[in-house]
Amino acid sequence: MRKNIVAGNWKMNNDLSQTEALLADLLKQTKTSNAEVIVAPTSVNLYKANEALKSSDISVSAQNMHFAEKGAYTGEVSASMLKSIGVEIVILGHSERREYFNETDELLAKKVDAALANNMSVIFCFGEELADRKAGNEEAVVESQIKNALFHLEALAFKNIILAYEPVWAIGTGETATPEQAQDMHAFIRKTLANKYGAEVADSVSILYGGSVKPANAQEIFGKPDVDGGLIGGASLKAADFFAIVNAF
Ligand code: PEP
Repeated sequence: MRKNIVAGNWKMNNDLSQTEALLADLLKQTKTSNAEVIVAPTSVNLYKANEALKSSDISVSAQNMHFAEKGAYTGEVSASMLKSIGVEIVILGHSERREYFNETDELLAKKVDAALANNMSVIFCFGEELADRKAGNEEAVVESQIKNALFHLEALAFKNIILAYEPVWAIGTGETATPEQAQDMHAFIRKTLANKYGAEVADSVSILYGGSVKPANAQEIFGKPDVDGGLIGGASLKAADFFAIVNAF
């Protein structure tokens, strides 16, 4: 059975002391749901976060990594470097990486391969822009993002892949997809996976929704049968709000 997962993407927020305060706050929260909890601090604070959360059941994820093992890639961080500090999950394909850092499906396929080769789990993000949805192209866009970055993988690789559908028009805008829009797209994503890998693989992959999820709307969105959790931006920066979302299951 696939897992329920709530992951917090802290983006480029929180210096060291703010990170320490948020980690301490997270440790004070009570989990009443069965969801797995992941937080993704900025790279300089990953070591600290992993140390602080080591004996809790909150896992730590990176927000990005390079595809190369090592070498002349100034400013970048490799999968093995993340592994060496105990980080075993990485978010790849976030729309902000696609938009501001020109990350293409082709590049993301290489990053996914590098993460999996290092036995990391990947939270793979994708989603259409507003213009795509207005033109009725949202399914075609999502299908091509998934196919281009992931469909070279063998079925077994999907044990280590979490999908995150994040319509770009809903990220950080306060505008959320309706629970029905989320469900329709998640069902389409699962059908796309089933067509390629079979129903067993498709049913085992967790598909998270991301885009302005808040304590007030989480329960309705997570109540949909193909929504297995959320990737949370803004609302993950306050421990109480984040855990209200975790406990919405
Ligand atoms: C995100 O950036 O992945 C995200 C979902 O952000 P927000 O929750 O702030 O819309």
